[in-house]
Amino acid sequence: MSTDSNCIFCKIAAGELPSTQVYSDEHVVVFKDISPKAPVHLLVVPRIHVVSLAELTSEHDALMAHMMRLLPKLAEEQGLTDGFRTVINTGVGGGQVVFHLHIHLLGGGELHGAGFVG
Ligand code: AMP
Ligand code: ZN
Repeated sequence: MSTDSNCIFCKIAAGELPSTQVYSDEHVVVFKDISPKAPVHLLVVPRIHVVSLAELTSEHDALMAHMMRLLPKLAEEQGLTDGFRTVINTGVGGGQVVFHLHIHLLGGGELHGAGFVG
């Protein structure tokens, strides 16, 4: 499996760095964001190292479908019965800080609009 030994999310996925994990399977790990922006703030992270949406190829189609279909299940488990927000930051211009693809799953508070600052 393709991983990057310098990548913080690869290390979390491998159990080499701690996280508060809420779900894991063969393809993904899901853990709490260390700096939550909402009462529920999870990160859905593939086990393989993919930098961002910009690096996806058709090889990742099944993985991305798996992650998308997991989101509403996770939201339900977290008690987000009236909805949730998903965010994917891509590249520096998109505010990406950790360069290992991840989906933010947020909810449980008041969320308005699309949340763009600048
Ligand atoms: P971004 O790359 O901007 O989409 O967001 C990276 C996210 O990772 C931020 O919300 C951080 O709070 C979060 N984060 C960074 N390091 C950790 C960590 N060790 N455990 C959990 N979340 C983290
Ligand atoms: Zn990685």
